[in-house]
Amino acid sequence: MPTAIEETVELPKLSNDEIARYSRHLILPEVGMEGQQKLKAAKVLCVGTGGLGAPLALYLAAAGVGTIGLVDFDTVDASNLQRQIIHSTATVGKLKVDSAEIMLKGLNPTVKVIKHNTMLTSANALEILKDYDVIADGTDNFQTRYLVNDACVLLNKPNAYGSIFRFEGQASVFGTKEGPCYRCLYPEPPPPGLVPSCAEGGVLGILPGLVGVIQATETIKLILGIGEPLIGRLLLVDALGMSFRTLKLRKNPECPVCGPNPTVTELIDYDQFCGITPPSEVGPLEVARDKAVTDLPVVDGIPQISVQELKRKLDAKEDVFVLDVREPHEYKIVNLGAPLIPVGEIALRTAELADKKDSEIVVHCKSGARSQRAALALKQAGFTNVSNLTGGILAWADKIDPSLPKY
Ligand SMILES: [Zn+2]
Repeated sequence: MPTAIEETVELPKLSNDEIARYSRHLILPEVGMEGQQKLKAAKVLCVGTGGLGAPLALYLAAAGVGTIGLVDFDTVDASNLQRQIIHSTATVGKLKVDSAEIMLKGLNPTVKVIKHNTMLTSANALEILKDYDVIADGTDNFQTRYLVNDACVLLNKPNAYGSIFRFEGQASVFGTKEGPCYRCLYPEPPPPGLVPSCAEGGVLGILPGLVGVIQATETIKLILGIGEPLIGRLLLVDALGMSFRTLKLRKNPECPVCGPNPTVTELIDYDQFCGITPPSEVGPLEVARDKAVTDLPVVDGIPQISVQELKRKLDAKEDVFVLDVREPHEYKIVNLGAPLIPVGEIALRTAELADKKDSEIVVHCKSGARSQRAALALKQAGFTNVSNLTGGILAWADKIDPSLPKY
């Protein structure tokens, strides 16, 4: 099998300290001195330093991968630490790339860490990916996943892919000449909103550890050119049943990006492809949470109301009906005492709100994204005065009642 490191490249020598550090690798014939030198020469890009990127980057650093690139635009939040073990309590609030660098350098000071503190986009992806030998996709959204896939195919770079959802994970190696790509497996993204994010649907914290380590294993195998990589195979991990299954994947001859007659020959607009409204400074989306707390006008015909304004209305005993559209287990963590109808049940349960058709209704969720969908559903069902609480119960905890827990 081909290795990600060209044989013609002159491999860097190991120092005596490095020989001591990697001795358990050096005595493995399948790695040996040459393999360890290949690892030192290798450049791996971790897309995302979240649940998958954390164990992935840590093990790559421990193994002696010489250059590790990190792409992330986010900052560390306390709610990340249940799974993102590359960050720590001490780095909450710091940029994730800075926080991850501290941990990687602490583990292995000889590793070169290249920080890309940016959101990966069609405009910058090829430029960022082109200098790396292997790309490890640890993203948590479909737009970036298709973007990474297409960029890897266009640049002919192997993509050690992993993804997780609640108790289940997947891993494969895409983007090689001989194997299929992510689009061969999933030609179309799911309709927006159908698959909840980890922030909405939750995830068992250990699961990304399991899958991220599989991605790290595949990455190391690709660099060394040993074993059977997951090219043309999809590994399915079920943490509850603790079962691992492998599905054979075929290259799709009609694949728009890796097929013989590609129609995607450059990077496209992946937000549009996935039917997503791109996050904006003033949007009610999850990602814009911290920026969305100012008073907002109207999004998709739904007035946006700030927590301060809602507090004023409640204090003034105005006739306003507050509706919580989160899930019952979230309600148990913290609530404002408002009635609960989960967003997925809104359309079926509007009869319960029949006497509120023309009342002022303020819908809230955790951070404002689901409640926006719920408000749209209510509006479609004929409710005339529905607004969305900007920033949700998290904003309420931030601005109005700091005694409330945040999750
Ligand atoms: Zn393909």
